[in-house]
Amino acid sequence: MNTIDKFNQHVMHSYGRYPLVMEAGENRRCRDESGKEYIDFGSGIGTNSLGYCDEKWADAVCAQVRTLQHSSNYYYTAVQAEFADKLCTTAGYSSVFFCNSGAEANECAIKVARKYSFDKYGKGRHNIITLVNSFHGRTIATLSATGQDVFHNYFFPFLEGFVNVKANDIADLNDKIDDTVCAVMLEYVQGEGGVNALSQDFVDAVYDICGKRDILVITDEVQTGVGRTGKFLAGEHFGKKADIVTLAKGIAGGVPMGACLVNEKCKDVLTPGTHGSTFGGNPIACAGGLAVLERLNSEGFLDEVAEKGKYIKAELEKCSEVESVSGLGMMIGIKLKTKNAGEVAKQALDKGLLVLTAKEKVRLLPPLTITYDELKEGIEILKEILEE
Ligand SMILES: *Cc1c(COP(=O)(O)O)cnc(C)c1O
Repeated sequence: MNTIDKFNQHVMHSYGRYPLVMEAGENRRCRDESGKEYIDFGSGIGTNSLGYCDEKWADAVCAQVRTLQHSSNYYYTAVQAEFADKLCTTAGYSSVFFCNSGAEANECAIKVARKYSFDKYGKGRHNIITLVNSFHGRTIATLSATGQDVFHNYFFPFLEGFVNVKANDIADLNDKIDDTVCAVMLEYVQGEGGVNALSQDFVDAVYDICGKRDILVITDEVQTGVGRTGKFLAGEHFGKKADIVTLAKGIAGGVPMGACLVNEKCKDVLTPGTHGSTFGGNPIACAGGLAVLERLNSEGFLDEVAEKGKYIKAELEKCSEVESVSGLGMMIGIKLKTKNAGEVAKQALDKGLLVLTAKEKVRLLPPLTITYDELKEGIEILKEILEE
């Protein structure tokens, strides 16, 4: 039996998949079972931030596997201490809770926000404002937080306590902020929602109103964080620092990890027994995370990510089929004039290029380490498809 048939026999069919069986990868290229090679402009949805099997990253992860693969959170490990220290220092936060995915990081953020408010103001101040067209994850709580009706299906009842505001609509925000609200949660660039950045005015308004009312700002930087936009956090582009920020995807270079970082105000909200995760802060994931941070913190690395982002945008804008290019840094959405994004992704696959889609757009999240030659090669393929 071939791999796809075998796979489908016992793996639930919860994903629409392309007919590609991924076998191995090296840096920015991967290959399938038949030996066909692909340039990767998707990084496994932004997770393989240093590309496939980056040598230093792989050495760090393998060394950790051979030393200590896991310890329960009843004990301490040096590698978790080291990663927490470097992560908090790099991001400018006081403390972190480690988990294993973006949804879990957001679950933690929601719990911190509600408990912060409960501890200080008592019951009834539990609502969290999220934005229309947002995406925060697939658990019941994070689906409830997600401001897209298509996700509010089948799994009733959803969790109470989320109020949606239209992105970039300050009047709607003012309308919906009241004494029941403990937090506003947002993505600076809505990823799954179509790679749309928020306006500076709207972000300013959120921080202004929240600051005045002791409402926490939670930024879901699961997709935008860890260098993706050319800054360590996308909030830096807006000159803002949220009370709580969530990270996952690229944080550990492809090993599962999520993190919820909080500022001084929220650092003591979670007390022993109020939250936990068996695998959270796993040593292998922390070792992967340290390798990612070391690269991101190396001289000029993030500036180069920003430059490469500009290069991609400029190249794509030359293409007659491209209506517009959105996003920040190497998080890119391409709106097409006539072609269908899903069809373009399939054609790209045939021609040896992996791209993603988001709503009606082609989405690119190339490995942060990609070279200009590789970018040129991939963009050439994309242009060929778009202009034929
Ligand atoms: C991917 C994503 C999530 C969910 O992350 P998982 O690791 O799949 O749980 C949450 N928020 C944003 C902004 C994301 O892009």
